[in-house]
Amino acid sequence: MPATTDFSTAYCTKHKIIMEDISSKDIDELKKYLGSLGEKPFRANQIYKWLHQSLATDFSQMTDLSKALREKLSNEAYITVPEPVDIQISREDGTRKYLFRLPDDSLVESVLMKYRFGWSVCISSQVGCRMGCAFCASGMDGLLRGLTPGEMLGQIEAIQRDVFSDTTDCAKKHEEHTTDCAEKHEGHTTDCAQEHGNRTDPKAPSVPKPDSEEYLRNRISHVVVMGTGEPLDNYDNLLIFIRMLTDENGLHISQRNLTVSTCGIVPRIKELAEKKLEITLALSLHAPTQEKRRELMPVANKYDISEAVGAMKYYQDTTGRRVTFEYSLIKGVNDTDEDAEQLSSLLWRGAHINLIPVNPVKERTFAAPTRAAAIDFQRKLEKFGINATIRREMGQDIDGACGQLRRRHLER
Ligand code: SF4
Repeated sequence: MPATTDFSTAYCTKHKIIMEDISSKDIDELKKYLGSLGEKPFRANQIYKWLHQSLATDFSQMTDLSKALREKLSNEAYITVPEPVDIQISREDGTRKYLFRLPDDSLVESVLMKYRFGWSVCISSQVGCRMGCAFCASGMDGLLRGLTPGEMLGQIEAIQRDVFSDTTDCAKKHEEHTTDCAEKHEGHTTDCAQEHGNRTDPKAPSVPKPDSEEYLRNRISHVVVMGTGEPLDNYDNLLIFIRMLTDENGLHISQRNLTVSTCGIVPRIKELAEKKLEITLALSLHAPTQEKRRELMPVANKYDISEAVGAMKYYQDTTGRRVTFEYSLIKGVNDTDEDAEQLSSLLWRGAHINLIPVNPVKERTFAAPTRAAAIDFQRKLEKFGINATIRREMGQDIDGACGQLRRRHLER
């Protein structure tokens, strides 16, 4: 379905009308929309639950609505159901990378990771990106558009359907609750779906009842907006997405379990701070000085490194939420003793930094330091009073770096 310019609606070539993007409406907007159809507000609550809790993919599944209303909605509105066109499953740790096709045929990536605390999903916020960071495959073709709230939420919901299907259909096939189809299928398979027939068929979700033990056991509990795109460059839609993600009638994910990562759009960081949300904010820092950062991240030409760090301190002080700094360790570029020292003078004592050995990107020459060199860098930072962790490298055997899977498909 071709989307219109603001992407809150789409033109339906079959019905020859503009269709409402019902998946992007928060509960208040949904009430207004249902009101415009002559329906009572409680209908909005029912529909919201169907969409974002029962993960319905079609109005026909909403069995407590009248047939007439279901038909009306089918003719006037559409549900955003990102279609998985490729799924890579890491043999090493079960991480799954999804490539989704959106209603206008755009492709976006998302990642599902299993941690001790549960399932975590990393989503994209834009199709492409205009920030042009030198180490990133996502920004190589520039920005196509921002994602709608429904498309951001839709990535999580499509993955949640997949997790439920996996732990029901897939588990039955394998006679256990496995998260590791990859092993059973001998590795890097994108074909688990085919093997299991409908496992990833978005039209045939196996979603347990929202209050059931199975639902609670397998629900996605953490979300990171750190995939393709700069979330604060899609600010208004991001705020609606946050409202919808945390709604108790929807996925009901705690704000505290949501991390938004920015490359450092300073005015937006301050604006977000004023909202006093409980989300975690992460700054992609990646360099210890303005000079080096400018080489890696063009955004530094607009907002100086000290301004970006200052805005993060403001966010922390205003919201009371600890912020984090992301630092891709690139061998020979930003991992020397001098870099560690400069980084420590840039940040405040007690600041938290995640060191991420850079993911190799085919089109770039950057390489990650050895594990020993990364640990050495971490120790130096700690000596200066900075809390540094080395992020667990997940999905290293699949197209792990952001944007790689999409690029590979676009090149075909
Ligand atoms: S690292 Fe993030 S902000 Fe930079 S180009 Fe890639 S997606 Fe955009």
